[in-house]
Amino acid sequence: MNIINGEELKVDLSVPVWKYVYEKAWIYGERIAQVDAESGRSLTFRQLVELSQRVSRCLLRLGVRRGDVVAVCSENNLEFCSVLLGALEAGAACMLIHPLYTPREFIHAMGISKPKIVLCSASVAKSQPEEVFTENDHVKAVLVWGCTPAILPAAYRKLEDILATDELLVTESHGETELHLNGHQSETKNIALILSSSGSTGLPKGVMLTHSNIIVALANSAMYTSEKNITLGLMPFSHAYGLLLVLMCLCEGSKVIIVGKFTVDSFISNIQTYQINCLYLVPSLLVLLSKRKAIPSEDFKNIHHVWTGAAPVSPKVQQLIHEQLAPFGKLHHSYGLTETTFIMFTAPYQINKAGSAGQLTPGMQCKVIDINSGEALGPNAKGELCFRGPSIMKGYMGNSDATKETIDNEGWLHSGDLGYYDSDHYFFIVDRLKELIKYQGHQVSPSELEAILLTHSAIQEAAVIGIPNEMYGELPQAHVIKDPATNITADEIQKFIAGKVAPHKRLYGGVKFVDTIPKTPSGKIQRRELKQRV
Ligand code: AMP
Repeated sequence: MNIINGEELKVDLSVPVWKYVYEKAWIYGERIAQVDAESGRSLTFRQLVELSQRVSRCLLRLGVRRGDVVAVCSENNLEFCSVLLGALEAGAACMLIHPLYTPREFIHAMGISKPKIVLCSASVAKSQPEEVFTENDHVKAVLVWGCTPAILPAAYRKLEDILATDELLVTESHGETELHLNGHQSETKNIALILSSSGSTGLPKGVMLTHSNIIVALANSAMYTSEKNITLGLMPFSHAYGLLLVLMCLCEGSKVIIVGKFTVDSFISNIQTYQINCLYLVPSLLVLLSKRKAIPSEDFKNIHHVWTGAAPVSPKVQQLIHEQLAPFGKLHHSYGLTETTFIMFTAPYQINKAGSAGQLTPGMQCKVIDINSGEALGPNAKGELCFRGPSIMKGYMGNSDATKETIDNEGWLHSGDLGYYDSDHYFFIVDRLKELIKYQGHQVSPSELEAILLTHSAIQEAAVIGIPNEMYGELPQAHVIKDPATNITADEIQKFIAGKVAPHKRLYGGVKFVDTIPKTPSGKIQRRELKQRV
């Protein structure tokens, strides 16, 4: 009773994800698959698959075996997909690490998955002290790509050099017109990706996604693009949203213009230069476009589809963009979690469903449960959204307690989001029960920031909450009880945090000095009460 079922899912789950992608991408052969927005360098679909296969052979030669983990740490660039697919083909699971992480965050992420090989772009290699990678017994090699003029530490190796060795060239058959796939197939229930998410509470954890989880997500997203599409690869590929988008485009023959570093000016100019006709964005960029009234202008006339996801978007902004796109373009909404291999709900915007995140994707089940009784609720009643089906993660790596708290005995994943569905089975997200903050679609874990704040000798207690913000969604704000014997300032605390976390986790909402922090009798911070105080 009161369980909503998505449409029937039609996909072959017997292949590993690299093979699924290669076979689909290969069809588009000599067409351009990806272009680096800044340099204009490009790869055809065929070149991209061939490069992936070379990366795979290189990793096998370096001793990567099925069940190993490799870390991929890079901004969005032309080689990202090949490195990832090559590592998957070699049988490894890939942990994707945010390129702007600080050394502390890198060490935390690598501690979860213990990668055997670290594959990183030159800019990440340059930004991290060598010890971050080399002082781990489990790391056997650090391979860096894109580092032509850069001087690398002796312990690192250039991926391009290894790929270009004679041995590999001999095994290569230039001018091949058929796709040759290695004989081995990884088991599809094996882990393919490890992505970062703090889930409902606590520090960032490693979300384990299997090959079939990802294939389900790719099959379900096939209808959202086509070979006519040219889009921007803007969302970080280290996050589920950005990664699935770029893999989906590879599978469906869409061209992706890859953006390594976001600036507002380059965002606008890339749309014009590359005649982008389809955009996958987060709400903050929708707000930006709506404020600039950009879309109806001559340069934006090609855009026929705009997607948004990863964070809430206000009905007002949806309506504005919808009007700007009319009559030829459509706005689509989507909702999902890293733990569900992203998209759970999606639909084109409809005036009579303003604010809706869409309908359930094929193959999945959803129920909305009463947060006290756990009973599955009917239409228009608010409760926690729970999901079950083939794209639910395998669990959190090395953290069975957190896995059990998130996925119950019947296989339902508890999202920590509050919502409801209407009589047409359109879903609406109304609030977040979990402690997560979303800044521009990026996850910020309050517990992580609180733990760092408490390491400062002048801070006695700290609580972090998200302050609603029209442009960025939420801004992390710290409430601090300071040691009365010190004169620490809000600015000093903001700088202290900025030195320890990636830019999206900074205290953009400021620091408030307080006398008390509301807590339960057991000492748990009552963030909801704190928010109400603000
Ligand atoms: P992540 O795992 O980083 O994708 O974050 C997942 C969380 O982002 C969800 O649990 C929601 O809290 C939030 N989220 C994602 N998409 C939406 C959306 N369309 N509307 C509201 N919240 C969203």
